[in-house]
Amino acid sequence: MSDHPALHAAAETGAPVVCLYVLDETTGRAPGGAARWWLAQSLRALEAEIAERGGSLALRRGPAARVIPEVVRESGARAVYWNGIAQAPHRSVERALESALAKLGADSQNCPGDLLVPPSAIRNKDGRSLRVFTPFWRRVLSLGDPPKPLPAPKVLRHAPRIAGDRLESWKLEPAKPDWAGGLREACIPGEAAARGRLRDFLKRTARVYAGDRDRPDREGTSRLSPHLRFGELSPRQVWHAARFAAAEDPTLGPGIEKFLSELGWREFCRHLLHDHPDLATANLQTNFDGFPWTHDDKALAAWQRGRTGYPIVDAGLRELWHTGVMHNRVRMVVASFLVKHLLIDWREGEAWFWDTLVDADPASNPANWQWVAGCGADAAPYFRVFNPVLQGDKFDPDGAYVRRWVPELKNLPVKLIHQPWRATPIELASAGITLGKTYPQPIIDHARGRERALAAYAEIRRG
Ligand code: FAD
Repeated sequence: MSDHPALHAAAETGAPVVCLYVLDETTGRAPGGAARWWLAQSLRALEAEIAERGGSLALRRGPAARVIPEVVRESGARAVYWNGIAQAPHRSVERALESALAKLGADSQNCPGDLLVPPSAIRNKDGRSLRVFTPFWRRVLSLGDPPKPLPAPKVLRHAPRIAGDRLESWKLEPAKPDWAGGLREACIPGEAAARGRLRDFLKRTARVYAGDRDRPDREGTSRLSPHLRFGELSPRQVWHAARFAAAEDPTLGPGIEKFLSELGWREFCRHLLHDHPDLATANLQTNFDGFPWTHDDKALAAWQRGRTGYPIVDAGLRELWHTGVMHNRVRMVVASFLVKHLLIDWREGEAWFWDTLVDADPASNPANWQWVAGCGADAAPYFRVFNPVLQGDKFDPDGAYVRRWVPELKNLPVKLIHQPWRATPIELASAGITLGKTYPQPIIDHARGRERALAAYAEIRRG
C-alpha cells in the first residue's frame, strides 16, 4: 500500500474509497502457472493489509474497460484512480476506460508508478527508445533522483463494501496436482515480505553484491524481482532505500551502484517493450528471422526437465521447476545452452520461463531471451557460446549449487562435478553414478554444439 500513487491520490481527496482489483485476462499476456500462484498470495496479503485498516478489497474478473464502469455505477464513485502502465495493451484499455468513465460523468486519474522515468524522457533524436544499455542508463542517471516514494495513506475512509468474487473462485493456484509446494518453501509474496527482503539485502548482501551476484551457490542477490514484478515494491522505493544506505555507509557504494544498474536493466527492458510491443514474438534484429532453428521436442523436454547431462544447466532448470526461481547467471547459461547448443528457438525457452518463473515479466523475460540469443537490443554476440563446464567451474567452484539441485551427483569430487562424463568407471562407481541411467550422458558434445551454432549463425550472416 506504500508508494501506491493511485491509492495515495484517492485517499488524499478525503472521500470514501472502494479498493478494487480486476483480473483482466483479455489484456496483454495471460500470466503463467507460477506467476498466477504468486498473484494469489499477493492478493491475499493485500486483502489482509486493507482489512487491518478496516476496509476490504473487492475482486472482480473481466475486461477492465467493462468491469470498472460497472463498479462505478454500482458504487456511485465520482472518480477512478489507477496506477498506469506505459505499455500498448494497457494504454488502449486505459483510453477505452477513460471514455467510458467520461460518459458516466466520473473522473479518470491515471497515476504512473511502475517506472523510474517515463519512456518519453529517454528518447534518441528519432524519438525512439535507446537500444544500448550504457547510454540509456547514463541518461537515466543524468536526470537525478526519481521522485521520492509515497507513504501508505495514514487515513483511508472506506466506502461501503461492494460485492466481489472469492479469490478461490479464480483458481489461480494449482489443486490437483498441487505442484506449488516448492514455491511455498522458497517464496513469501506480499508487501511486508518485500520490504523485509529489501532491508535484509541492504544490511547484509549489498556489501558483497558486486562480487557475489554471479554466484548461484551464495545468497548474493536481492531476490526482489517478483516483488517488483507484482508491484509489492516500487523501483522508486528500491532506488531511494539503496541510495540512503550508501549515504549512511559509503563502503556500500560499489555494491549499491552495481545493484542500481541492474534495476536499470529492468527499466531498460520496459522502455524497449514500450516501443516494441511484440518483443516476445519478433526478433529485434530482423536478420534473425531466417535463423535455421531446429524442432527437437525430445531435446526441448530434456532441457525443461533438467536432463541435458550438463550439471549446471540441469541444476538451474530443476531449481526453476521446484521453486519458480532461478539465479541470473544460471538463467544466462541455460538460455545460451538452449539457443546455441540445442539450436532451439529462443521463443520456446521464453515460453517455458513464462510459465515457470514467479517473476515472469512481459518485458524482462523476452528482452533477456533476445539478449542471450543475440537477436535483441544491445545483445550478447551470437558467436559467444557459453561453455557450461567453465561457467560451472567459475561460478559454482565447489559444486555446492549442483549438489543441491542434482543430488545424484553429490558424491563426485569437485574436479568432476561439472563434467561427470570425464570420470573413470571407478570414480563413477564410488560416487554411485551410472551415466545414462542415474544421470544422463551429455545431450550434445560442447565442441560439436559450438561448431553447429557458429555454422547456423554464419548462414544468417551470409543473408
Ligand atoms: P538482483 O541482482 O538483486 O537485481 C535487482 C533487480 O534488478 C531485480 O530484482 C530485477 O528487477 C532487476 N534485474 C536484475 N537483472 C536484470 C536483467 N538482466 N534484466 C531485467 N531486470 C533485471 N527478470 C525478471 O524480473 N523477470 C523475468 O521474467 C526475467 N527473465 C529472464 C530471462 C533470462 C533468459 C535472463 C538471462 C534473465 C531474466 N531476468 C528476468 C533478469 C534476471 O535474471 C532477474 O531479474 C534476476 O535474476 C532477479 O533476481 P534478483 O531480484 O535477486 O536480482
